[in-house]
Amino acid sequence: MKNGKIVLIGTGDVGMSFAYAALNQGACETLVLIDLNKDKAIGEALDLNHGLAFSGNSMTIYAGDYSDCKDAEMVVITAGVAQKPNETRQDLLIRNSKVMRAITKEVVASGFDGIFLIATNPVDVLTQIVWEESGFDKRRVIGSGTTLDSARLRYEISKYLNLDARNVHAYILGEHGDSEFVCWSKANVATKPIYDVIKDQKMSFDDLDKIYNDVKNAAYEIIERKGSTYYGIGMSLVRIVKAIINNENSILPISVYIDGQYEGVNDVFIGFPALLNKNGVDRIMILDLNEEENEKLQASAKYLNECLESIKEKKV
Ligand code: NAD
Repeated sequence: MKNGKIVLIGTGDVGMSFAYAALNQGACETLVLIDLNKDKAIGEALDLNHGLAFSGNSMTIYAGDYSDCKDAEMVVITAGVAQKPNETRQDLLIRNSKVMRAITKEVVASGFDGIFLIATNPVDVLTQIVWEESGFDKRRVIGSGTTLDSARLRYEISKYLNLDARNVHAYILGEHGDSEFVCWSKANVATKPIYDVIKDQKMSFDDLDKIYNDVKNAAYEIIERKGSTYYGIGMSLVRIVKAIINNENSILPISVYIDGQYEGVNDVFIGFPALLNKNGVDRIMILDLNEEENEKLQASAKYLNECLESIKEKKV
């Protein structure tokens, strides 16, 4: 089924940033919008269609329903409930897990046979929920993982070194959240290891810690100033969609299933570089991580395993 049709579920800030970026980049041929709030989806579709005359790309955009998933290549899920005042992360996890199970049921009931892409937080855990609920092959269920975090990292390094972010090759691995970490041992600028770049330019290694902390806290900072983050994730989602729809064999740090390829990382969806094409995940990269990085990956996986366990205990 290669028709360039994508169904977006959740037309909030993240969903519409994805839709707007997809329109501007000609990421697909058809974009269907679904939201609990049907009027919002209809209004957003109208608004986007009014930009078509100025877009370099032709695209069919409309508000639809779950039957539209039947022949779609991809379903992108950005639907979710926001954290309520005094609500813990655990409460939010339980609420969004329920939302994700309900949405997955509807999508699968339509006869959908494509690839799921999830952005709703906590994204790694919810990707695993969609995988479990759908019964799909693990290659066809993907979370945005640390794609956005890695883009933020490349931006921060490029700013620090005053060079183009596209020459910076660096990844954040692990949970999209507090236990994520930078794989510094593999970070490089146009093949030169980042440690050598810093040493040669007589820059401070402490600044690398500051860069990591800035990246980790970027979402908190943006949320404090403007309520939520959406442009960066919208463009990250388009990048992932294009890798799949255009059969690019591109490597991106998505949320992907790992089960034993790394010691102590079992039965978990977690942010890790993986090769993507029209079939979804072709394979994860096998990296020669150093001891510290292995420990951080294991700790991140352990945290995600515990989150999943807590949902199971509550029978969500
Ligand atoms: P939002 O509140 O603006 O939009 C959420 C939308 O989902 C709303 O339009 C709501 O009506 C809809 N919705 C809720 N339940 C639904 C259901 N059962 N079916 C269909 N639609 C439903 O929120 P947002 O700012 O767009 O954020 C969406 C999600 O993206 C959040 O979970 C947020 O944490 C996450 N996010 C992820 C990343 C990442 O890197 N993965 C980055 C930023 C935000």
